[in-house]
Amino acid sequence: TRGLAEADAAVFAGIAQELEREQTQIELIASENIVSQAVLEAQGSVFTNKYAEGYPGKRYYQGCHPSDVVETLAIERAKQLFGCGFANVQPHSGAQANGAVMLALVRPGDTILGMSLDAGGHLTHGARAAMSGKWFNAVQYGVDPDTHLIDYDAVEALAVEHQPKLIIAGGSAYPRVIDFQRFRAIADKVGAYFMVDMAHFAGIVAAGLHPTPFGHAHVVTTTTHKTLRGPRGGMILTDDEAIAKKINSAVFPGLQGGPLMHVVAAKAVAFGEALRPEYKSYIAAVVENAKVLAATLKERGADVIAGGTDTHLALIDLRPLGITGKDADEALERAGITCNKNGIPNDPLPPVKTSGIRVGSPAGTTRGFGVAEFREIGNMVADVLDGLREKGEAGNPEVEADVRNRVRALCARFPIYQG
Ligand code: PLP
Repeated sequence: TRGLAEADAAVFAGIAQELEREQTQIELIASENIVSQAVLEAQGSVFTNKYAEGYPGKRYYQGCHPSDVVETLAIERAKQLFGCGFANVQPHSGAQANGAVMLALVRPGDTILGMSLDAGGHLTHGARAAMSGKWFNAVQYGVDPDTHLIDYDAVEALAVEHQPKLIIAGGSAYPRVIDFQRFRAIADKVGAYFMVDMAHFAGIVAAGLHPTPFGHAHVVTTTTHKTLRGPRGGMILTDDEAIAKKINSAVFPGLQGGPLMHVVAAKAVAFGEALRPEYKSYIAAVVENAKVLAATLKERGADVIAGGTDTHLALIDLRPLGITGKDADEALERAGITCNKNGIPNDPLPPVKTSGIRVGSPAGTTRGFGVAEFREIGNMVADVLDGLREKGEAGNPEVEADVRNRVRALCARFPIYQG
């Protein structure tokens, strides 16, 4: 058995490059995080070899006892983390989790109501380019053009008009808490199922620092790799036994084959970490750091969509600075700060350009950055943006080189994956 370096030098080099990138740049992509060595180890384990179709105690192949052990740990820890009665930990991703809910609860051609992509929703919530938009009659709600908050009266009017079978709340770039109670009242009024996709803010819910969707939603989906800080993957949760049965059949054999047992093992590890008190302190810091980052960018002349953030992410409107999201995220990458361009509500620019960037604090907070560091990061971002403002889309090479050095120095003070 040869190690990777010897067996495949080309892939080994790619991984080494990625490690170096993560160690020496500041990660502001709101959907990313930095998992523990323990999560990495579980995900890189021999469970990748195992077929375990079915569920603990009811498998289609032999040799599944160890798989039952880790999947049961993942399920029980997930239930404890969110205070709910059922968890399916097998979805390969967030998109698969949402697809499984649709397979379980609605039929092709049915009407679904979700938040539009350009208002901060996700592709799987009924966007035209996605399966959810092609196979269902997808009606989309947006946000109020002035407050950038969900306009619940408008959601209710759309629900009454279109009579959806499924209403979805949650998104990828919505920085404020969502009124789950109001959504459930709207769903009840039209006889729809209510699903919350908490992929982004699941970790904040787990830590008790964000209102919980349980008690309101019929079903809750999430990814496990964002604020939850686990391996890439998805999960479906509910308190309703009848829905739980449908979900299990929809995930397998409905949508997927064998579960990724190595990922399920890593999910169990991550949920165990999230049950510890340190995780709650971590999430409190994530939320505080996001507020500082948003406030610093506002002080330096950008606008903050929805006036700020209640979560781990902020959506920055660059129009007051006269620069595009595309120019900004490219200049920031040159300077060692990674984020993504992002449309703002009613963005006048197309998605390949955008008027905004989305920034988030989960990864930086994991490496130990606190309020002082996030203020410094906000100022570094603003310095790079000022360079674009002065010099045009090519940016200011001197400023970018200077920020690159400051980024390296900051990262060196808060190392990750050392030995
Ligand atoms: N749901 C939301 C709200 C998301 O933000 C995302 C990913 O960005 C997903 C679902 C999809 O997750 P995945 O990329 O794991 O398929």
